[in-house]
Amino acid sequence: MTISFGDERLPARFWAKVRISHYPCQRPEVDTRCWIWIGSLNASGYGMLHWEKKSVLSHRLAYLSLVSPIPEGLQCDHQCWCRYCCNPNHIRLATPQQNSDNISQIGRERHRVSSCRSGKLGGRLRSGEAHGRAKLVERDVLEIRRLYVNGLSYQELSVQFYVSQSQISRIVKREQWDHI
Ligand SMILES: [Zn+2]
Repeated sequence: MTISFGDERLPARFWAKVRISHYPCQRPEVDTRCWIWIGSLNASGYGMLHWEKKSVLSHRLAYLSLVSPIPEGLQCDHQCWCRYCCNPNHIRLATPQQNSDNISQIGRERHRVSSCRSGKLGGRLRSGEAHGRAKLVERDVLEIRRLYVNGLSYQELSVQFYVSQSQISRIVKREQWDHI
């Protein structure tokens, strides 16, 4: 069963922190878009939020609320390799062993996707410092300006387009890309 974005079993305050990615998943095997958590991230790069007086991981909460309970001893494994994705359609339950096997696979395959444009989404997962290096095209710039007018913040746009907030600012103020 496919879970839909905006499912009412989670409240509006959850969905306010989630955006559907503009880019196809970096893994060709995953044919639906990531749901990017634009709220806080923990030190490992997973989305976090306060929920019933506790700090919880956003992708786990999405899985628990929309798919099923998570049995003791199993972990949520991102099929899309994007830790801050909370699309439960991208999550499989795995034993810690399966999960670490998958992480080694990411290591083996990452060079294969690193030059791929859509590989941007996994950038924080892979290196943590690739931020600000994404190459934008004209279509992205127009989309950034449109979304800014529609109320997205520099921070949200920065996460979605994988460029720094200062670059977003320059684009919005037309200090960059002023010819379009
Ligand atoms: Zn995903």
